[in-house]
Amino acid sequence: SIMPASLSAISNGARKGILFKGGAHLERLAHLEAIAFDKTGTLTRGKPEVTDVITRDHVTEEDFLKVIASIERQSNHPLAQSIVQYVKTKTASDLQQPDSLEDVPGYGVIGVLSGVEWKVGKADFVGKEEAIAFHEGISASLAEDGKTIVYARDEHGIVGLIALKDIVREETIAAIEELKASGIFTVMITGDSVKTAEAISNECHVDQYVAECLPETKVDEVKALKGKFQTVGMVGDGINDAPALATSHIGIAMGEGTDVALETADIVLMKNDLSKIAEAIKVAKRMNRIVK
Ligand code: ADP
Ligand code: MG
Repeated sequence: SIMPASLSAISNGARKGILFKGGAHLERLAHLEAIAFDKTGTLTRGKPEVTDVITRDHVTEEDFLKVIASIERQSNHPLAQSIVQYVKTKTASDLQQPDSLEDVPGYGVIGVLSGVEWKVGKADFVGKEEAIAFHEGISASLAEDGKTIVYARDEHGIVGLIALKDIVREETIAAIEELKASGIFTVMITGDSVKTAEAISNECHVDQYVAECLPETKVDEVKALKGKFQTVGMVGDGINDAPALATSHIGIAMGEGTDVALETADIVLMKNDLSKIAEAIKVAKRMNRIVK
């Protein structure tokens, strides 16, 4: 019968820090042909560090940072958490209490401070042309260095930007290479800009990247992969990865990811360790050999 083999595979996985939520996932995993990865928090550590703060003329860095942190304090996005932490080390003064706040997943946050509406987030969100013009006005290749740029605007225009650099996990490159060596196609899908995505995907050695994705477009990318490959996996950690995890044949969540990702996934990597994916495939293949 199939039960003993899949049960022993599941407990074998658990000993290795891989939580399989059922035997059917093992069966599918053995035939994995392509796998998509979220960037932030999945291929990277998800603890980006602030590297640059640039403000418009006559705006002090301190005032700017206080406004941004007062708004980002309410968001649980990794970028928001890093910005708030950075600002706390830079200024002793209290943050402001916003009049209202709206988290816009995949884009940023809208906050009203002392009657002024601020938008904090990616270029598309604050006004792409103005954001690019502001960025080009400063002589720094932020995105080309793989940095993520968070812009802030008030009712008049761009007030400044914060660049953050996230570090690729130490096991990422080897984990990707191992999957590629066993014939699996690897893709990075991210909400970040094209330039940043290109830099990080080169660092990670993935076969392909798709940038500027929204949660819905992450789903579309997984569907497109399903059109080309028989069995497609997706690895993610965030709330906005959940729809794509559910769409893939095998959703894999990082163990320290958000609850929604953990609930949606078929497999959980308990220690956030990407090298466990190749190990999980080995466990699955061994089980299939025993069953057959
Ligand atoms: P990723 O695919 O890299 O995990 P997300 O889909 O969570 O990214 O977000 C896409 C982009 O939207 C981010 O790269 C960032 O530019 C912007 N963004 C989202 N939430 C926030 C936030 N709270 N503060 C600033 N920027 C944000
Ligand atoms: Mg993420």
